[in-house]
Amino acid sequence: STRAGIVVTGTEVLTGRVPDRNGPWLAEQLRLLGVDVGHVVVVGDRPQDLHEALVFLTGTGVSLVITSGGLGPTADDLTAQVVGDFQGRPSAVDPALEQRVAAVVDRLMARRGWRADPAAVAAGVRKQARVPEGATVLEPVGTAPGLVVPPAEGRSGPTVLVLPGPPSELQGMWPAAVSATPTRAALAGAAELRQETVRLWGTLEAQLAGTLRDHEHELAGLEITTCLREGELEIVTRFPPSAQAAYDRLVAVLAKAYRDTLFSTGPTLDEVVATGFADRGLTVATAESCTGGLLAARLTERPGSSAWVLGGVTAYANSAKEQLLDVPASVLERHGAVSPEVARALAEGARSRFGADIGVGITGIAGPGGGTPDKPVGTVHVCLAGPDGTEVRALRLPGARALVRERSVTIAMHLLRV
Ligand code: ATP
Ligand code: MG
Repeated sequence: STRAGIVVTGTEVLTGRVPDRNGPWLAEQLRLLGVDVGHVVVVGDRPQDLHEALVFLTGTGVSLVITSGGLGPTADDLTAQVVGDFQGRPSAVDPALEQRVAAVVDRLMARRGWRADPAAVAAGVRKQARVPEGATVLEPVGTAPGLVVPPAEGRSGPTVLVLPGPPSELQGMWPAAVSATPTRAALAGAAELRQETVRLWGTLEAQLAGTLRDHEHELAGLEITTCLREGELEIVTRFPPSAQAAYDRLVAVLAKAYRDTLFSTGPTLDEVVATGFADRGLTVATAESCTGGLLAARLTERPGSSAWVLGGVTAYANSAKEQLLDVPASVLERHGAVSPEVARALAEGARSRFGADIGVGITGIAGPGGGTPDKPVGTVHVCLAGPDGTEVRALRLPGARALVRERSVTIAMHLLRV
């Protein structure tokens, strides 16, 4: 199979100051192109480290190496030079590229109102326009051009695709990088894969593994990975177009075995909720205590949410619950703020105050303090109030404060999708 390696450069990534977003992203993209990635190597900014990584990956027999980072205007950004040397292609300034980069930098500085010593700027531009001879230049998305650098004539080894470090620039350049002729040549033979996601909520991973084992013989040609995230079991399947029938079979098997927990054969939870409300022409409003507005934030994350989200109240204090959402003082007193009764009153308050079809109320103890023996940290009540009445869930969520809050919101989202 066609194989590629990845080198992520940058001392800030090596030391963990900046978490690596390029290695995983590139590995995923390559996987979808049907390219096998065996190694992602992270190196610091020393040229020697990059050189050694190139030597190592070449030794693994890959036909393409992708580097990220080190294309900036400063002297410590040496990737282009190191790669050129490695491939036996000395670097030289490309005058036309120099002019294009200069124009980009001028525009950028004007837009930001920056001033700098023109000589220093020119030196930086000149450095970014130094490219290995015979390399294919990928137009800058930021200021740094990317490069495709095959081995020099008469040499063997992988083609090296050199991409900028900032993730948005790297991702922006990716389509051009993949379709460049020398990249295509290096990846010849790779067959594109489809990727589909099935989502379950409330099924154990071990049970799913059993189901997949039982049907193993029907699922040949599928690469299935499962991942448990936020209580959701995500089943990602990659397959060549020729295995479409096996994939359809998998979906049928899952739909039958997990009728009650399969909630999507593609869209994310948030997308399912959004289309559910939009399609039914319903509206929602929230009343949140322990989640402090996180649910409202999540509901409004997607563009177009104004069509069905009316608003939300963060009612942390009892007085706010009473005054803003009409939670009766007597209910607060009798049952306590963290109770199914108050969750219900919050949901109904949100519903009537906003004039929404559906109201959501959340109240709980996120911790670390505030727990009691009968209401320990992690006790959360989520209520949905609608035209046909109310539905309350009493939860005992494990984990620290941030996790309790996050999970409460996710569970509310799941209630909202039905
Ligand atoms: P620049 O012109 O911005 O210097 P560059 O190609 O030289 O581009 P780097 O200097 O390596 O890129 O990185 C610039 C910034 O991009 C880093 O400070 C970091 O914030 C971000 N970055 C670089 N590599 C990664 C990575 N692997 N994951 C996430 N962010 C990264
Ligand atoms: Mg840099």
